[in-house]
Amino acid sequence: MDKSEFEQWSARATKWSADYISTLENRPVRAQTSPGDIAKQIEQSPPESGESMESILDDFEDIIPGGMTHWQHPRFFAYFQSNAAPASMIAEQLATTLAAQCMLWQTSPAATELETCMVDWLRQAVGLSDDYKGVLQDTASSATLSAILTMRERALNWQGNTEGLAGHPRIRIYASSRTHSSIDKAMWIAGLGQNNLVKISTDEHFALNEDELRQAISDDRAAGYLPAGIVICVGGTSMGATDRVGEVCAIAKQEGLYTHVDAAWAGSAMICEELRVLWEGVNEADSLVLNPHKWLGASMECSAHFIKDPETLVKTLAIQPEYLKTHGQDGLVNYSEWGIQLGRRFRALKLWFLMRAYGLEGLRERVRNHIAWSEKLCERLRTSPGFEIVTEPILSLFTFRYIRNGVDDVDELNLQLVNALNDDGRIYLTQSEHDGVRVIRFVAGQFDMQEKDVDIAYETIVQVAAGLDFSS
Ligand SMILES: *Cc1c(COP(=O)(O)O)cnc(C)c1O
Repeated sequence: MDKSEFEQWSARATKWSADYISTLENRPVRAQTSPGDIAKQIEQSPPESGESMESILDDFEDIIPGGMTHWQHPRFFAYFQSNAAPASMIAEQLATTLAAQCMLWQTSPAATELETCMVDWLRQAVGLSDDYKGVLQDTASSATLSAILTMRERALNWQGNTEGLAGHPRIRIYASSRTHSSIDKAMWIAGLGQNNLVKISTDEHFALNEDELRQAISDDRAAGYLPAGIVICVGGTSMGATDRVGEVCAIAKQEGLYTHVDAAWAGSAMICEELRVLWEGVNEADSLVLNPHKWLGASMECSAHFIKDPETLVKTLAIQPEYLKTHGQDGLVNYSEWGIQLGRRFRALKLWFLMRAYGLEGLRERVRNHIAWSEKLCERLRTSPGFEIVTEPILSLFTFRYIRNGVDDVDELNLQLVNALNDDGRIYLTQSEHDGVRVIRFVAGQFDMQEKDVDIAYETIVQVAAGLDFSS
C-alpha cells in the first residue's frame, strides 16, 4: 500500500468512525443478532490473492457494526462501561501506527517514560500518596494476578518460582465474598487453588467482617497454613460492595500480610475528592488496581496498577534471558518486568491525550453527573408502582426489581423483563443476583451520555414492564 492509498483508506476509516459516533444513539444498544448470523457471512477460507481495500471496507460496513453490541452508546447501562473517549481513540490510532512493542525502555523509550509520567498523573488525580509507583497493565485481571503472585512469592521468601509449591505450607489469601471472579481465577492460575481463597462474609453495609477475617487468619495459622495476603474490594461488580479499606489494611499490617485493593471500576471516580471516603485509608495498601478503561474514558486496554514497593513485584515477575538484557544501561525501567506479558502495547499515549483533552475538571463533571443522574432514576423507580430498589446507589450503580400482583416467580419475571428491555434496544441493562434474589442492575457512566438518556431509560423500563406478557 503506497502513501496515497494509505491516506485514502485511513480517511475512509476516519470518516466512517466519525459518522458512527455521531449516529450511535439511533442503533439498538445490544446486538440484535442470533448466534451464527455473522459467521455465515464470512468466507470459510482465507483468499489466495489479495483483495481491494474497497471491498474489505465495504464488507466491514455491511457485516460487522450490525452484529455488535455498542459499548459507546449513551444508553449502555450494563456491566461496567468500557469508555473510549474520542481523544483516546485518536491516540490509539497513532499508537497503532507506531506499533511499538513496549517491553523494555530500549524498545520504546518515549512509551516507557510517558507511562511513568501518566501513572503518576493518575496517582495525583485520584489522591494516592506519592510513595506509590505504578505500571499500566492490560486489564485488572492481570494486575490482580500479578499481586497474588507477589503475595505468594513474598510469603515463600521468593522460592516459589524456582521450587514450585510442593513441600511448602499451603498459602491462604483472604477476600470478601463479594469480590470479583478475577480473584478466584488468579488463585487458579497462581497454582494456589480455589479452596485457599478464604471468603469472608460481609455485614449489613456489604463490607467484609473484620472479626471474621482475624479469626480466619488465626485459625489458619493454627492449622499450619501460610496466610499471605488480603484482596480488598472497593466497588464490587454486582452492586458496588466496598470494604473498610483502612481497617482491613490495619489487620494486614498486624499480621504481616500483603494487601491488594481491587477498585477496577470505582477507582476512576476517586478523581472527585468528595468521593474518596469510599476508600478511606487506601494509602496503607501495598497494591491497588483501577481501570481508566472503564469509567474514565481511556479505551481498552488500560489498567493502572499502583504498587508501594515495585521491587516485590519485579522480584516476582522479572525474568532476564540474555536477549532481553540491556547491557550498560542500568537503572532503567523495563515495564515487562512489572507484569505478566512480555510484549506490551503503547498504552500511555491515550491517557496523555485523555487527561489533556478533557482536563480533570471535565472528567470529574462527568462522574458527578453520572452519579446524580443514576440517583435520579433510582428515586423515580422507587416511587413507581411495581418497582422496588434492592440495593441503594453506590456511586452510579444500584439494583432494582419488578414485582407484579399474582406473580410468584419474581426471579423469572425479572429475567424476562431484562430480556424484553434488551430486545427493545433503546437501553441495555444486565441482571445480577443479590443475596439469593434476581435483580436488575443499573449503572450510569458512558462518557458522553446526557441526562435525557436516563429519562429515556425510565420511560423504557416502565413501558416495557407494563407491556410484558409474562409466562412462567
Ligand atoms: C471489571 C472488574 C474487574 C475485571 O477487570 P478487567 O480489566 O476486565 O480484567 C475486576 N474487578 C472489578 C471490581 C471489576 O469491576
